[in-house]
Amino acid sequence: MVKVTFEIATPEKIVYRESVDQVTVPTLLGEITILPNHIPLVSALSPGELVIQRGEDRISLFVSGGFIEVKPGSNVVVLADAAEHVDEIDVERAEAAKERARKTMETARVETEHYTNAAAELQRSLARLHLASRKRHRGRHGVGSEGTLKDS
Ligand code: ATP
Repeated sequence: MVKVTFEIATPEKIVYRESVDQVTVPTLLGEITILPNHIPLVSALSPGELVIQRGEDRISLFVSGGFIEVKPGSNVVVLADAAEHVDEIDVERAEAAKERARKTMETARVETEHYTNAAAELQRSLARLHLASRKRHRGRHGVGSEGTLKDS
């Protein structure tokens, strides 16, 4: 059966590299799912959930932004600014980041870089919190089988 050769890397490390069935990514234009033989494309990512489907395994990652490149031959590369497994999301840290960003946005002038950075931080923290709470909800109701990341 045809697979997607998939790799996701951050500036620090290769997070995951495997042949998979499909990958769903959050792009600036909305969520897209890449199946084998998808047309080539490049797109920017927005903060949100990246889901890898490999057989029975469903692996859910948070990505903070970056790019996806779909190359000819079902070859997919994601370069993410940051990526962590949903189980690794530190809710307290994300809450703290959210509060910090909110405070900055209250005082900084709208057209400044300071304000823009805070708005981006707010978006990342809200996306992390949203994903973490959805994961807790799924866990309680026993929906979905989450795979594990390999050491790289
Ligand atoms: P903070 O201000 O708390 O650092 P941030 O949104 O600026 O948040 P990022 O730049 O997205 O952080 O990520 C920096 C590194 O920290 C990455 O390795 C990322 O995986 C990790 N990270 C950031 N926030 C969290 C979190 N809430 N839970 C787990 N890992 C996190």
